[in-house]
Amino acid sequence: MKAKDIAELLNEPACTHNKKEKSGCARPKPGSTAGGCAFDGAQIALLPIADVAHIVHGPIACAGSSWDNRGTRSSGSTLYRLGMTTDLTENDIIMGRAEKRLFHAIKQAVEEHNPSAVFVYNTCVPALIGDDIEAVCKSAQERWGTPVVPVDSAGFYGTKNLGNRIGGEAMVKYVVGTREPDPLPTCTENAGMKVHSVNLVGEYNIAGEFWHVLPLLDELGLRVLCTLSGDARYREVQTMHRAEVTMMVCSKAMLNVARKLEDQYKIPWFEGSFYGITDTSQALRDFARVINDPDLIERTEKLIVREETRIRAALIPWRERLKGKRVLLYTGGVKSWSVVSALQDLGMVVVATGTKKSTEEDKERIKEIMGKDAKMIDDGNPRALLNVFKEYKADILIAGGRNMYTALKAKIPFLDINQEREFGYEGYEGMLELVRQLALTIESPIWSAVRQPAPWKTPLQPSIA
Ligand code: SF4
Repeated sequence: MKAKDIAELLNEPACTHNKKEKSGCARPKPGSTAGGCAFDGAQIALLPIADVAHIVHGPIACAGSSWDNRGTRSSGSTLYRLGMTTDLTENDIIMGRAEKRLFHAIKQAVEEHNPSAVFVYNTCVPALIGDDIEAVCKSAQERWGTPVVPVDSAGFYGTKNLGNRIGGEAMVKYVVGTREPDPLPTCTENAGMKVHSVNLVGEYNIAGEFWHVLPLLDELGLRVLCTLSGDARYREVQTMHRAEVTMMVCSKAMLNVARKLEDQYKIPWFEGSFYGITDTSQALRDFARVINDPDLIERTEKLIVREETRIRAALIPWRERLKGKRVLLYTGGVKSWSVVSALQDLGMVVVATGTKKSTEEDKERIKEIMGKDAKMIDDGNPRALLNVFKEYKADILIAGGRNMYTALKAKIPFLDINQEREFGYEGYEGMLELVRQLALTIESPIWSAVRQPAPWKTPLQPSIA
């Protein structure tokens, strides 16, 4: 990838903060790749496309260290869970065999797994020795008739966020617009409602949480052409150009996809979240508003009233238990504000939120929701986090898996909110799961038990004669 292409991806015009500064995204600082390199970001963005063979072209460690690091779920094919790599060695580099190995890896993937497509991720080593993966992919595609998509994502190009954009860029460049959507099933005509096609970008279906929302969209007659990329199929990505609206679900990182769909195919987009009652209702309203179909607007309002009434009634016993509990939220990106709103829906008090990976817009949102004096934590080192927890008298730490041991060692209640989590929190149904997990965590008797002094540290009681 040329330096000019990388600069263009970093300089995303759709980021509002980009209008103030020359380049929208902060330059990577030394060591910032510890949070994931560009390859890691591209792979995270595209790996959930379930029926694709994902081949990592590079030394074994690139794939081995980062494979399948999201708990994304598929309703069908599980090919995406199979780690494939060209496993380059010194000999391959010295003897100039890397491109040949890639060609054979594609052959093996196609012959053994018959995938809908093959994605080839470039990594540092082949990028440094100048492998032309685009040419190899083109020739493999001609040879076997299966689409082979190069994703030029060498780790040294930049951070994980840039990698997300590189992944999205590859989809827009090579995949979107290469097939028309399937005709609508005839039964929808009888139902008498107009079906509208929509896209979701940045929806990863972690722990299957999007399946809480999908039935609602179905009921409203919103056909999801593609969720880039949770539970997606290659053939769905191909049809994204025919949507009437795109929703940016999580993270601004793939904003370039939404913007390019707007530029190239005139598809408007909006940003939203499915975390919390308020945000879920708002997202549904936004679909209807942008599509601007009066019948859809009316049906959406009716559905929102019905669902909100149902879920608020179901939440009453839980709200009593959680009301007023103080939360320290330490998570990145868009979750920093979307989860705040979900917790506020439950009557909980968010004392501070992490903003290390949040964009300027995310921070503005936090101020809107939590007020101007909202405590934002940029420094996520364990000591600082525990100090804030103590100072603000929090009852629970909600954070990513890597903070789990910080919390457990400090003997404080902890709930995992990031991609490794086991439970889905999206939509109205997701709120019920969230309250259940919050209550189970805060009320668990383990916390009082582990805070007791160890039996061998308590003075011996005189035995009763
Ligand atoms: S792509 Fe580069 S930075 Fe990323 S894991 Fe591989 S060698 Fe490391």
